Amino acid sequence: MTKSLPAAAAAGRAIGNETGVTFPDATTILNVEEYGSAFPQDVTTGFPKQNGQSLSYWLQQVRCDPLLDHRSTPKLPKESDTVVIGSGITGTLVTKHHLETWPDKSVVVLEAREFCSGATGRNAGHCKPDQWRHFAKYEKAFGPEQALKIQQNEKDTWAALVAYVQENKVDCDLWVGDTLDVPLDEEVADMAKTIFENYQKAGGKTDHIRVAQDPAEAAKISRIKSAKACYSWKASTLQPWKLTAHIMRENLEKGANLQTYTCARSVKADGTSKRRWIVQTDRGDIACDTIVYASNAYTSALDPSFKGLISPKPHMCNKVIPPRTWSGTKALQNSYGVLLPGGGLFSINPRCTADGAIMFGGSNPGQKELDRWVEQHPEQGVDDSFAKLESVTKHVREFVEAEFEGWKDVPSGPGEGFDYSWSGIIALSADGVPFVGELPEPGKWICAGHHGHGMARIFTAAPGLVKLMNGEPWSATGLPDVYQLTEERVQKLRKASQAAKVAIV
Ligand SMILES: Cc1cc2nc3c(=O)[nH]c(=O)nc-3n(C[C@H](O)[C@H](O)[C@H](O)COP(=O)(O)OP(=O)(O)OC[C@H]3O[C@@H](n4cnc5c(N)ncnc54)[C@H](O)[C@@H]3O)c2cc1C
Repeated sequence: MTKSLPAAAAAGRAIGNETGVTFPDATTILNVEEYGSAFPQDVTTGFPKQNGQSLSYWLQQVRCDPLLDHRSTPKLPKESDTVVIGSGITGTLVTKHHLETWPDKSVVVLEAREFCSGATGRNAGHCKPDQWRHFAKYEKAFGPEQALKIQQNEKDTWAALVAYVQENKVDCDLWVGDTLDVPLDEEVADMAKTIFENYQKAGGKTDHIRVAQDPAEAAKISRIKSAKACYSWKASTLQPWKLTAHIMRENLEKGANLQTYTCARSVKADGTSKRRWIVQTDRGDIACDTIVYASNAYTSALDPSFKGLISPKPHMCNKVIPPRTWSGTKALQNSYGVLLPGGGLFSINPRCTADGAIMFGGSNPGQKELDRWVEQHPEQGVDDSFAKLESVTKHVREFVEAEFEGWKDVPSGPGEGFDYSWSGIIALSADGVPFVGELPEPGKWICAGHHGHGMARIFTAAPGLVKLMNGEPWSATGLPDVYQLTEERVQKLRKASQAAKVAIV
């Protein structure tokens, strides 16, 4: 018998509005997402911000890379078989599989700003396949079969990413090792245990997950003082810009045309030439037969039919340089999901095979302050200029000082500590999973709305989309059915969220 969830969740309402899992007999929330934001009903979307955006650590590391402002041809081509909008990991992988599927077809990639300067170039660098934590939420929303399929797909996606990096010897600081999920109080630990057990009862595979329910053992494994349990399995961290750049450079060698600093402003039917569509950009028009929206958080600015389905949300990441007491042989050796009381979650990437700078992402409790501010300033929905946000950094500081033994033992010197934080725009999906498939208008395709978790989704979702573009059935993609863009799904979500109120600036 699985433990029951509260009425709202049981009623199956749009799960993007649920920020976590609660049980009727507990006061706490287990936040199962990588962030703690509800799907916003009144948010202003827009095109990628053209000036003043913050620079992530990843983008700071590649300032002299000519790919940043690459244009394969000085002028925007007048036409192309396919136009891919967006040069993040989705657009770059769609282009790769497009070139492999149709070597003779032309493909132009439009990028509004620098190459890969959206969420992919700004994330926490964690490719962590969820292996049980989201189960309760997905089970209620989609049923146990789909919930299990989602978790299997995340594992397959992680494996595909690691295989690609290793086979192609991609220089992107890949780390493969044990990721630890660590509940920090007893109530959160109880809830995690129930979800884990329910996942097992539903047939979820757990052989590869090592579980410590004894707090002393959990604290020893995780090195987190208040750990109440510890779940560990394989995951990865990496430098996401460098991975995406490697794939894009191969695309360019195979003939793709990349046009950075080229914002697509609208799409209209081409009534005059032999092509189906015209994409209007700041640098002129480009005609094509096929369009792929790989524009993630910004999709509804370009195509208003996604208003209320995909919404942008500013989100922060922190970079911390550990003190001498947590460096060298004492440096962190694992990545983490720290499950905090009250629904927060720290995602921790300590870059163990690179420079040891520690990236903190996830639903930092301080993120709520930013969320409230954005609610009052809905026009800032796509503003990624936030940096060094103390409301977020203070929670990281309090956590490491309280939980990492000896962190404060030596006074920190210049160059150590809470170095920098930056922002990016997450693409919240109204039901928490991406939209993959063809729009009602033939020749328009989408792979977007990755809900803050794209690194564990896109390495299978993007090739899956190209299979669909090639006329193959959904089953050939191997993706969970609930990722498919269908009229039925859209209608259900529209009813759940009532009228879409997203405005465009
Ligand atoms: C701060 C932060 C931390 C995160 N941490 C993690 C993490 O640790 N692990 C994880 O799995 N996921 C994480 N995510 C989510 C993850 O980064 C995304 O799901 C993933 O990168 C999405 O990739 P994408 O290519 O679909 O979108 P993006 O990388 O956002 O790419 C979309 C691109 O399209 C371009 N574009 C949009 N509109 C237009 C237009 N009209 N014309 C031209 N170009 C356009 C944008 O400029 C952008 O470059 C995080 C996200 C953020 C913001």
